[in-house]
Amino acid sequence: MKTLTDRIEAVSVLLTEPTVSLMGFTRPIEGGSVEEHIERAARECYQSQAQMSPESGKRFIRGIILRGHESVLEHASATFRVLGGSRAYTHEQVRHRLLSFSQQSQRYVSEKDFRAVLPPSIAGNPEARKVFVELMEETRKAYQRLKELGLENEDARFVLPNAVESGIVISGNFREWRHVCRTRCNAAAQWEIRRICGLMLKLIRELAPAVFGDLVLDEKTWVVTHISETIDCAEAQKIVERELAKLRDKGQPPSRILRLLADDGLYAAMFHVKRCLCKGCTATFAACGDLK
Ligand SMILES: Cc1cc2nc3c(=O)[nH]c(=O)nc-3n(C[C@H](O)[C@H](O)[C@H](O)COP(=O)(O)OP(=O)(O)OC[C@H]3O[C@@H](n4cnc5c(N)ncnc54)[C@H](O)[C@@H]3O)c2cc1C
Repeated sequence: MKTLTDRIEAVSVLLTEPTVSLMGFTRPIEGGSVEEHIERAARECYQSQAQMSPESGKRFIRGIILRGHESVLEHASATFRVLGGSRAYTHEQVRHRLLSFSQQSQRYVSEKDFRAVLPPSIAGNPEARKVFVELMEETRKAYQRLKELGLENEDARFVLPNAVESGIVISGNFREWRHVCRTRCNAAAQWEIRRICGLMLKLIRELAPAVFGDLVLDEKTWVVTHISETIDCAEAQKIVERELAKLRDKGQPPSRILRLLADDGLYAAMFHVKRCLCKGCTATFAACGDLK
């Protein structure tokens, strides 16, 4: 026999998975990829556009990121649409003031048939789920009753909970997306924003692998680890010193190491020795010379 909760669940719309889609991104008028656009713009600094080649972009962009010259990443941007996220999530997301937002209005759009995001912890607890589902149904009735009493959406919405779904479109430049993904795809961040930002990172990494490739995403937990943390001090120092020795043998300056960053292992090692404050890593990074 069906319980009251079963009957209510049949009419409630509970959301357990957000949908994140890439709506648009920067496309250079003169053709090529978004990463070529960044490279072309950044090379204005050195007047070195003539040195661009199909192979140059990866090491060039990695070199820029390694040196912290991230303002050039602001030349490219991407727009995402997020459906199935709660008002609790959007309230956290809009705190990133360098992003731009268009969010479903609760004044112009009626919430009489609202959908609710069901947290996994509640979904997995039958008693908690019952409490949740029944409250959503009570809320729906209260909202409808207020509308029947002649209230406008903007006042009827005061009974709505944090769980209510809220569609949102978000635009930002690549520098800000790197910052947001690092901040929110963190074990300390809340599960919903972590998952949504993880889905965004997954999409944007396919679009611009050199820009976002140092952010290593675990698709089970949606936690990002920086590539520099995937290698230990001894290994990082060994890789960098091996490349420096090769450059020395060729009579080339150590700073030429920046031109070798298309190699994933060297990229991780360079980032590690740059960030690590231990004596060995500091000395190895200093041996790379002037990386300006
Ligand atoms: C795990 C976690 C827990 C959180 N918990 C809470 C919480 O309990 N309560 C709460 O209120 N918030 C909380 N937040 C939100 C947090 O405080 C920030 O508002 C949010 O992360 C956005 O910060 P932001 O630096 O990315 O964005 P913004 O504040 O938009 O700033 C973007 C960047 O612009 C620069 N900038 C912006 N404004 C200034 C300024 N006035 N002066 C100088 N530089 C500026 C900074 O470089 C900054 O990084 C939490 C965030 C996280 C990740």
